[in-house]
Amino acid sequence: MRLLVLLLFLCQWSTAQVNIVQLMGIEDSHLSTFETHKLTPKTAAAFSAMQAAALKDGIDIQLVSAHRSFERQQYIWEDKFVRYTAEGLSPEAAIARILKYSTIPGTSRHHWGTDIDITDGNIKNETRLLVPSKFHNNGPFVPLHQWMQANAHKFGFYLVYTNDAARTGFSYEPWHYSYLPEAKAFLKGYNSRMAFAYFKSVGVRGSEHIDRDFWDEYYRTYIKGINTELTVD
Ligand SMILES: [Zn+2]
Repeated sequence: MRLLVLLLFLCQWSTAQVNIVQLMGIEDSHLSTFETHKLTPKTAAAFSAMQAAALKDGIDIQLVSAHRSFERQQYIWEDKFVRYTAEGLSPEAAIARILKYSTIPGTSRHHWGTDIDITDGNIKNETRLLVPSKFHNNGPFVPLHQWMQANAHKFGFYLVYTNDAARTGFSYEPWHYSYLPEAKAFLKGYNSRMAFAYFKSVGVRGSEHIDRDFWDEYYRTYIKGINTELTVD
């Protein structure tokens, strides 16, 4: 397995300036520390500028989640897989349920350091923050959502999992933004076949139910099932 990682490491490309090992969350030397999180230096700078601008308008943008490692995503995946199959779901049904909100390890945009989950620090005593209804109607994060809708693009940030009926893949996430100037290049540089090879080599629980056809379909509908502003050819 280490040899495979080493081989993947050698596959760099100039446009994205990151490699597949970094894009899979296995290695994070392209990231810098921001608050208690990790982001690419450019994403951190843009986020910081956006945070300062929002604060002037009374919105206290807080990071809930930024970079996440392959290992962490594997933990999330396996925890759900074990729970759902213990509840009586078949492995295939368990995987389908996981994929409503969680990615296959190695395929999360949170591996990249360009993607963030945010809330408004003005709102205290809320539990279960990342729920779509809290960003709409009389929800506590409506001011944050409205501010982001009007201003986020000025700083390079775009919603990834939009509320668009024509979009495939993951459910609507009004809290998840991506730093477009880097994320578009990262998606272009993401090598799905290499990612599949590494994923299969790790022995993630449930991975025996994910073959190449499943992976290719998942890549097309989920990883590319995003806000069209962020898609690449
Ligand atoms: Zn997210």
